[in-house]
Amino acid sequence: PRCSIFSLVFPTLDRHHPDSPVFIDAPTGYVIRRADLRRLSLSLAYGVTHFVPPAAASRGFFSSVVSKRHGLPLQQGQVALIFMPNGIAYPIVFYGLQAAGVRTTLANASYTPRELAHQLRDSAAEVAFVHPTLLPTLEKAWRELGVDLEQARARTVVVDWEPWNAPPTQATSAGWISINSLLSMGTLAKEVLFDGDKSNETAMLCYSSGTTGLAKGVESTHYNITSLVTIHKSLLEYSPNDVILGVLPFYHIFAAVLLTIYWPVYNCPVVIQGPFTPDSFCANIARYRVTGSLVVPPILLALAKHPAPEQHDMTSLRRAISGAAPLSEALMNAVIGRLEKLGCKDLVISQGYGLTETSPTVFCVPDHLSRKIVGSCGLLLSNLQVRIVQDGPGDKDAPEGEPGELWVRGPTVMKGYLNNPKATKDVITKDGFFKTGDIAVRHPDGHYYIVDRKKELIKYKGFQVPPADLEAVLITHPDIADAAVIGVYSTEQETELPRAYVVHAKGLGFFKSPEEKTKFETEIANWVARKVAKHKQVRGGVVVIDAIPKSAAGKILRRQLKDKVKEETGRD
Ligand code: AMP
Repeated sequence: PRCSIFSLVFPTLDRHHPDSPVFIDAPTGYVIRRADLRRLSLSLAYGVTHFVPPAAASRGFFSSVVSKRHGLPLQQGQVALIFMPNGIAYPIVFYGLQAAGVRTTLANASYTPRELAHQLRDSAAEVAFVHPTLLPTLEKAWRELGVDLEQARARTVVVDWEPWNAPPTQATSAGWISINSLLSMGTLAKEVLFDGDKSNETAMLCYSSGTTGLAKGVESTHYNITSLVTIHKSLLEYSPNDVILGVLPFYHIFAAVLLTIYWPVYNCPVVIQGPFTPDSFCANIARYRVTGSLVVPPILLALAKHPAPEQHDMTSLRRAISGAAPLSEALMNAVIGRLEKLGCKDLVISQGYGLTETSPTVFCVPDHLSRKIVGSCGLLLSNLQVRIVQDGPGDKDAPEGEPGELWVRGPTVMKGYLNNPKATKDVITKDGFFKTGDIAVRHPDGHYYIVDRKKELIKYKGFQVPPADLEAVLITHPDIADAAVIGVYSTEQETELPRAYVVHAKGLGFFKSPEEKTKFETEIANWVARKVAKHKQVRGGVVVIDAIPKSAAGKILRRQLKDKVKEETGRD
C-alpha cells in the first residue's frame, strides 16, 4: 500500500471494531482500544506541532525563531527520538509522531549518555520523548552535545502519562514539558498523508551498525514498512483469537514493526511487558491467556531450563517466533518437549531472519513446516528477491547448496543510511540488492539457512554490539595501545559474547606474573562496564596480547582472532 504507516493501521474505513483492544499494559491490565489509540495519537500529533515551550514564548519573537529551529513545536519531516522502555505509552508516542509526519528514531533504553548523544546528534533529533526514569541519562546526553538546560527543556517531553493514575506525576513541576500538556491542546482532524510517491519518505530511523563501523541511522520509509506488514502475512499466521505477548524491546526493528504495527493491523491485541524475566513472562502468559510471542533464543533457553514455566499455566501458548539470532535445533526441541509435558498442544516454535535494513523480515518458517525444516530460517517472503553470492571477483552466484553472501532486493530494503552515502553505496548495489553480510545456503526446496556471518557485527542475545564502538571506548583507556573485539559463542547461554583483545601500552613484558595480567584484564572489563550499555559489556572476557593482527592496510584481521578461539575451545 502506498500510504503512511498511520493510514495503514487506522484506515478511513477501518474494518476492525473501534472497541477492540490493541494494547494491554501487563502490570495493570489497562487496555487501549483502537478508537482510544487513534484519538490519543491525533491529540499528541496536534500537541507536538502546536506546543510552544513557555520559556521560548515569553522571550518573544526573536527567541521563538530560535526555538522554531530547535525543539517544539515540530514540523513535518523533522526528527523526534523515543527513549523509553516498553510500556503502554510507547505506542501512543510512536503513533502520535507518525500521525504528525514526524520521523521517529528509537533509542535503546539501556544506552549510556555517550551512546544516546551519538544517536541524538546523528539523527539530528529536535526533541526527545523520555520516560521519567531515563531523564537523568537524557539530560547528560544533551549536556554532552552542548545543549544548555533551558534549550534541553524545550527539546524534552517527559512521558509521565499513566491513564490509571491521573493527575500526572511531578515531571512538569520540575520544569520539564509533560506529555500531558501536549495531549490536552486539541486534536488533529486527520493524520498527515504519505500517499503515492510520498510513501517513499523516511518514517523511522532505527540504528544499526550494518556490516562495519558505528551505529548508523537506517532510513525506513513508510512504503518499506507498509510492504513488510503486507507481505509478511502469507508466512506469519494469526487468528482473530490470538493474544500476543510483547516482551522484546520496542526500539528494535523486530518489535517496532511486528509488535507495534503488524499485530495492530491484523487486530491481535499485544500485551506489553517490560524487560524479560522468566517469571514475569510466564505469569503474563497465564494471566492474559497469551497464544503467541516474539522471542529471541535466550528467552527460549529460559523456557527450556528455568523453573518458571512449571509455576504458571502455559497451556494457552501455541506459537513462539524466534528471531534476531540463530535458533538451534536442540533448543527448539527442548522447549517443545518441556512445554508439551506442561500441557501446551500443537506448539509451533518457528524462526524468522531479517535485519534492521530490510524492515526486518526476509525469511520466515510457516507454521506447517516448523517441525520439518528445523534449523532453517524459512522461506523467502513474497515480493522479495535474493541472491547468494560467492566470495571473489565478479559477484557470481554460488552453485545451489553452496554458501555465499546473502543479497536482498525488494520493497522492504531501506532507503539508505542517514547522511551516509558512502556506507549506503557499500551495501546497496546499483541494481538495488542489499548486501546483508550474512552467509546463507539455499536448499533445493527453497529453505534458507544462515551458516555464518561475514560482517564484524556481534549479537548478544539479539542485541547489536558493534565491535568498532567497543574498540573506540577501549583505546581511550590510558594503558591500552590497541584493541580488537570479536564475538565468542556460549552454548550455555545460547548467544555470542563480546570479547576484547587489548595491547598494553607498555607491552606484554609489563606484567611480572600471570596474576598481574589477570588483574588488569578484570579491571578493564569492569571499566568498560561503566561506560557502555549493559548488552555491550565484554562478557566474553578481556585478553591481553602482544599485537592486534592487521592487514597491510591496517584493517583488523578478526578471522585470525576467531581462529585463535577455535583452537582454544575446539568450537566456532
Ligand atoms: P538487526 O539489524 O539487529 O536485526 O541484526 C541483523 C542480524 O542479526 C543479521 O544480519 C544476522 O546476522 C542476525 N540474525 C537475525 N536473525 C537471525 C537468524 N534467524 N539466524 C541467524 N542470524 C540472525
